[in-house]
Amino acid sequence: MRSPLLRLTNSGLYCEQGGFYIDPWSPAACAVVTHAHGDHAVKGSRRYLTAESGRLVLQHRMGPRAHIDGLAYGETREQNGVKLSLHPAGHILGSSQVRVESRDEVWVISGDYKVAPDATCAAFEPVQCHTFITESTFAHPVFHWAPQVETFAQIHEWWRENQQQDKACFLYAYSLGKAQRLVAGLDSTLGPIFSHTSIEEMNAIYRLSGVSLPETRTPDSGMTGADWSRALILLPPSVRWNVGFPIRGNFSTAFASGWMTLPEGPAQRRVHRGFALSDHADYGELLNAVAATNAERIFVTHGYIEEFVSLLRSRGYEALSHRTPRCQSPPRVPEMRQTKLAFP
Ligand SMILES: [Zn+2]
Ligand SMILES: [Zn+2]
Repeated sequence: MRSPLLRLTNSGLYCEQGGFYIDPWSPAACAVVTHAHGDHAVKGSRRYLTAESGRLVLQHRMGPRAHIDGLAYGETREQNGVKLSLHPAGHILGSSQVRVESRDEVWVISGDYKVAPDATCAAFEPVQCHTFITESTFAHPVFHWAPQVETFAQIHEWWRENQQQDKACFLYAYSLGKAQRLVAGLDSTLGPIFSHTSIEEMNAIYRLSGVSLPETRTPDSGMTGADWSRALILLPPSVRWNVGFPIRGNFSTAFASGWMTLPEGPAQRRVHRGFALSDHADYGELLNAVAATNAERIFVTHGYIEEFVSLLRSRGYEALSHRTPRCQSPPRVPEMRQTKLAFP
C-alpha cells in the first residue's frame, strides 16, 4: 500500500511527495497557506505560497521579510510530480481551497469557507475530488444564516435607531475579513464609518489589492461631536469600547458573528445586540458543499467534528475526524428538532 498523499504531522498537514505543508502551525520550508487568519498562517516559514489576491494580506501578517509567492486561482504548479492548485473558498480576500493531485488521486483541503456572496472576495467554487477535508465550525442544525441582505438591513435599522437617540454605534467584528465585508455592505450614506487602527490598516491593504470600499476614517482623523451621534465605529473584538476611541456621548454596542445565533451570544460578548453574519458556511451549506465535491472520503476538522462525522456516516460517506491541536471544543448548543429544517 502506498503512503497517503497527505498526512497529519506534529507541524500540520504534510504532503511528503510534494514537499509542502498546508497551513502548518510551526515554521516549515514550504507552507501553502489557505488564508491569513492566525489559526492558519504562522510566521517563520522559509517560503509561503498563497492565492495571488491574498498575497498582500498575508505579507502584512507575516512581515515584510517573509518570502511569499502568489498563485492565481485555478493555475497549476507542479512540485515533484504533485499538481497543486488553489480555488476560491469565499471566506476572506485571497482565501483558497487547496487541490492536490498525484497519480489519479485528488485531495481538496477546504480551509475555512463560506458560500454566501461577499463583495470583498471571489465566490466559493466547488472542486471535485476523492478526499475532501472540510471545516465544520458551524456544523450544527441550529446554525442557519438568513440572506445577508436581511442581516445588513437589521444593522442599518439599528444604526438609524441609535442616530435618533444621538448614540454612536460600536460594531465589533474580526479585523481581517469580517470588518471589510461590513464596510463594503454598509450604506455609507447613513453616516460616517470609522474604524479602529487595526481594521483601518487592513482596509488599506484590501484597497491596495483592488477591493473597492467606501471611505473609512480613524478617530484621530478629526472626529467631531456631530460625527459621534451619527457614526458607526468598527472595532476588533480584542478591544473594549473605551480603547482607541474618545468617548463623546452615549453609544450602543453590537457584535457581528455567526455565534450571535446562540441566544446567549450577545451577553457573552457583553454587547447590546448580535448580528449573525458569518464568514463560514452554515450547517446546510456544509452538507451541500460536501455533496458538491463528489468525494467518497471526508475528513472533518475544526468545530462540531464528532457531530458532523456521524451525520456524514449516516448519509453513506466514509467520514473521519481530523482533529489538530488547533481544534477547540465548540460551544454546546440546545438540541433543535432537525425535522424543522430541510436538507438534501
Ligand atoms: Zn479563517
Ligand atoms: Zn480558521
